[in-house]
Amino acid sequence: MSYQPNPDVIKPATPSTVALARGSLFKFVFLLAGVFLLAAYLLMFLARDLDHTEELESAFYTEKAMRSLEKTLTVTVKDYAFWGDAYRYLHLKVDPDWAFVRQNIGSTLYSDFGFQGVFVIDDADRTVYAVVEGELEKADAEPWLGPARDLLLARAREGAETETPFTAFIDLNGTPALVAAAAITPGTDPSVSADDRLHSVLIFVDVLDDAKLAVLGKEYGVEGLHVATPDERQQVSIFPLGEGGAAGALHWTPPAPGQRLLALGLPLIGLAAALVCLMTWAILRRTTAAARSLDDSYASLQKSESALATSEARFRDVVEASSDWVWEIDSEGRFTYLSDRFECVTGLHRTQWIGALMDDLLQTELGQVSQWLAIPNRRPDITIQCRYLETCGRERISRLSARAMVAGGFRGTATDVTEEVEARRRIEFLSQHDALTGLPNRVRLQEFLDGKLKALPTLDSPLVMLSIDLDRFKPVNDLLGHAAGDRVLNDVSSRLSDCVRHGDLVARVGGDEFVLILSEAQTQDEVESLCRRLIESIERPVLIDDQEIFVSASIGIAMAPTDAREAAELLRYADIALYEAKAGGRGTWRFYAGDMNARIIERRRLESDLRYAIKHNELRLHFQPRFRIADGEMVGAEALVRWQHPQRGLIPPDTFIPIAEESGLIIPLSDWVMTQACSEAARWPKQLFISINLSPAEFKRGNLPARIQFALKATGIEPSRVELEITEGVMIEDAVGALDVMRTLKQLGVRIAMDDFGTGYSSLSYLRTFPFDGLKIDRSFLTRLSESEGDRSIVQAIVGLGRALSLTVTAEGIETAEHVQLLKEVECEEGQGYFLSHPLTTSDFHALLAARNTAALGTNV
Ligand code: C2E
Ligand code: CA
Ligand code: CA
Repeated sequence: MSYQPNPDVIKPATPSTVALARGSLFKFVFLLAGVFLLAAYLLMFLARDLDHTEELESAFYTEKAMRSLEKTLTVTVKDYAFWGDAYRYLHLKVDPDWAFVRQNIGSTLYSDFGFQGVFVIDDADRTVYAVVEGELEKADAEPWLGPARDLLLARAREGAETETPFTAFIDLNGTPALVAAAAITPGTDPSVSADDRLHSVLIFVDVLDDAKLAVLGKEYGVEGLHVATPDERQQVSIFPLGEGGAAGALHWTPPAPGQRLLALGLPLIGLAAALVCLMTWAILRRTTAAARSLDDSYASLQKSESALATSEARFRDVVEASSDWVWEIDSEGRFTYLSDRFECVTGLHRTQWIGALMDDLLQTELGQVSQWLAIPNRRPDITIQCRYLETCGRERISRLSARAMVAGGFRGTATDVTEEVEARRRIEFLSQHDALTGLPNRVRLQEFLDGKLKALPTLDSPLVMLSIDLDRFKPVNDLLGHAAGDRVLNDVSSRLSDCVRHGDLVARVGGDEFVLILSEAQTQDEVESLCRRLIESIERPVLIDDQEIFVSASIGIAMAPTDAREAAELLRYADIALYEAKAGGRGTWRFYAGDMNARIIERRRLESDLRYAIKHNELRLHFQPRFRIADGEMVGAEALVRWQHPQRGLIPPDTFIPIAEESGLIIPLSDWVMTQACSEAARWPKQLFISINLSPAEFKRGNLPARIQFALKATGIEPSRVELEITEGVMIEDAVGALDVMRTLKQLGVRIAMDDFGTGYSSLSYLRTFPFDGLKIDRSFLTRLSESEGDRSIVQAIVGLGRALSLTVTAEGIETAEHVQLLKEVECEEGQGYFLSHPLTTSDFHALLAARNTAALGTNV
C-alpha cells in the first residue's frame, strides 16, 4: 500500500474572510464618513456664502435707503429754500403767519415728511423761525445742530449760488439725525430782489428714530433696521452715519438663508449619516456572520483536508506499526491484500495466501467467517473471534473486524488476542477455582448448582449434594504447620475426586469443607456406599515426612427436589445434615431429614432455657469418685454437671455443654460449677480432692485464673485439693496462650490434669511442654481393651510415660473387674468408672463417704 501526499492539501495560510470582510467594510465606512464631512463642510460654506451675500445686499439696500432719504431731504429742502416766497417771508422778513399759519413751511413738514425740526437761521446766525415736531416754537437751533451748525451754515451759504443744499448726519443727543441745510434764495422768481446780506439758511432735521428706520427698512427690504447700540457697532451689518460714523450707525438683521439652510441641511446630513451607520452596522453583522461561516467552512475544509492527510498517514502508520494485520477479500472471499504484519504475526507467507479463501485460514466458533460476513445488517463494530494454525501448528486466536467495501468484498483487521484469551481463561479459572487444590470454588459451585437446578431434577433422577467436613484437621495445621495442612488438603482433594464419576463436581468451599454434587441418578444405597468409600478413602493415613497423619470426615447429604429446589436451601440443608453427622460422633454421614431443622430450632430453645437455668438454679452437680487402683481407696471425685430441666428432666452435659460453649454461657455455668464443687469439697475429708472440668472456650477469655482464684477464696478450699481437667483442645486453639494461663494457674497452687488423653494427636508433646500433674486415659482405650492387644500395650505405654513424666495416671471408664485387674497389672495409679462408682448426687456422695468412714472405722476396729 503506497501513500502519496496530496499537494493540494497544504495551502498557504490566508487571513480569515471575517477579517477581510471587516477590513473592506471599515474602509467603506471611512470613505462614507469623508463624504458626509465634505457635504457638511460644503453646506456650511454655502450657508456662509449665502449669508454673506445677503449681508452685502442688505448693506447695499441700507445705504440705498439712506441715500434716498438724503436725496429726498435734499430735494425737499431745495424746493422750500430756493423759492422766491420763502426768500420774501423768511429772509427779507420773517413772517410766521405766512410760513406757519398758512402752512407754507409749517406743521405739514412734520406730519407729511416727519421732519422733527425746521429752522431758519438769519444772516446773523440767529434762529428766527423754528417748528419743532409740527409746533411753532421760539426755539434755538443751536442744541439741535450742535457743533455741526457752523459747518452746515457755511456749506449751505456756499451752495447758494449753485442752489446746492448741504446734508449731513449729525448726532442728536445719541440719536442720529439727517440734517439738510440750504441757503434761502429767491430761486427763479424774478419778482424778488435779493439783498446783500448773508443768506438765511433753512434747516430741516430728520431724526432717524427706530420707528422711522423700521418703516424705511421695510421699504427697502432691510429687516430690523435700527440705531446700533454701542455693542452692535462692533458687529457686521453696520452702516456708519456721518464722517467716520460720528453721527452713529445703523444696524439691521440681514436675512440668514445660510443659517436656515444649515439648520435644515445639517440634521439631514446627520440623519443620513446615522442611517448609513446603521445600515453599515447591519451589513457588517451580516457580512461578518457570512464571512465567519465562510471561514468556518473553509476552516473545516482545511481541517478535513488535513484530517484526511493525517488519517492517511495514521492509517499507514497503523498498518505498518500495529500488531494487527490488515486484510482485504474480494466478493468470492479470497484474499486480495494482506499487510506486512500478516507474516510477522502468523508466520505464514503472504504470497501463499493471496488468492486463497479466507475460510481456509480462519475458523470461528460459530461456523465459517464467510457466513458471519454474510449476516444481513451485521453491525460493523462487532468483532468475531477466529482460530487459525501457526506455521508450527500451534493454535492462535485472532479478533476479526470487517467492513464491506463499496466495490464488493470486505476489508478489516485481525488482532492477535491469543495471550489475552489465555489470560482471561486463566483468570476465569482462578476466579472459579481454589488456588491450593485446583478444585472448583464456591463461585463455580454456585454456577454449577444453578445450572443443574435449572434443569429441574426429578425424583427419579435427583441431584445429590454432599457437604463434607474433615474431622481432626485443625490440629494437623496447628501442630505440623500449614505446609503439612496443605498437603493433607491436596491429598484429600484428589481422593475425593477419585471417588466421584465424570460429570460430578467436587468443590472446596472452606478450609476443610468440601461439597460434592452428584448429578447421575443415585439411589439412597448408592449414596451411602459412596459416603462409606469417601470416608474410608479420607481415613487412609497421609504420609508426611515419615509421619502418618489421620483425618476423617463427616458428611451431610441433601437432595433435590426431595429436600429443596434452590441452591441456597440445598446447601443449608446439607450443612444441617453435616452438623448432625458430626454430632453423631464424626466419621459418619447423615441424610437431611425434616426434623433436623427442627432440632436446630430446638437447640436455640435449649440455649435460652439454659440461660434461664443458670440463673434459676436448675443445674445440679454429681460427683464421680476416683479410686487408687492398688488398694481401692477413694482419693477424690470429679464434679460432673447436669441440668434438671423442669419439663425434660435431667439433661446430661454432652447435650448442653456444647450449647453453652457456643453461646458463651459456659462462663457463668463454669463459675457456678467451680463455686459449687469447691464449697462442697471443702466439707469433705481433707485427703479428698475435687476434680473440675474446664472447657477450652474458657481459656480464650483472659480472666480464667482470676475466676478460679475467686472460687478458691470464696469457698476457702485448700488449692492443692483442687484439680482442673483440661482437654487437648485448649492447647490446640492457642498453645502459647494456654501455657501462659496454665503457669498462672499453677501459681495458684491447683493441680492440672489432661483429660481424654489419647483421643488427639500429640498429647505426648503437650505432656512434655505443659505443666501437667496428671493425665486421664480416655475411656475408649478400656472399651476396646478386650478386642485389641494393641490397646492393652498402649495403656501400658501411657502408664509408663506418665510415670516417666511424674504424672498421676488415671484410667477412665472402668466398667469391669477385668479392667481393674489389667490396670493393676500395668500399675495404673488411679481410676474411675461405673464399675467402681457411678457419678453420685451430693446426698448419695455424702452417704458413700459416711459408709466408707464406717467401713474404715470397722476395719480399724
Ligand atoms: P469426661 O470429663 O470424660 O467425664 C466423664 C464422663 O464419663 C462422664 O459423663 C461420666 O458419667 C462418664 N463415665 C464415668 N464412668 C464411666 C464408665 O465406666 N463408662 C462410661 N461409658 N462412661 C463413664 P458425663 O457426666 O455425661 O460427662 C460428659 C462430659 O461432659 C465429660 O466428660 C466432660 O467432658 C463434660 N462435663 C461434665 N461436667 C462438666 C463441667 O462441669 N464442665 C465442663 N466444662 N464439662 C463438663
Ligand atoms: Ca473429665
Ligand atoms: Ca474424660
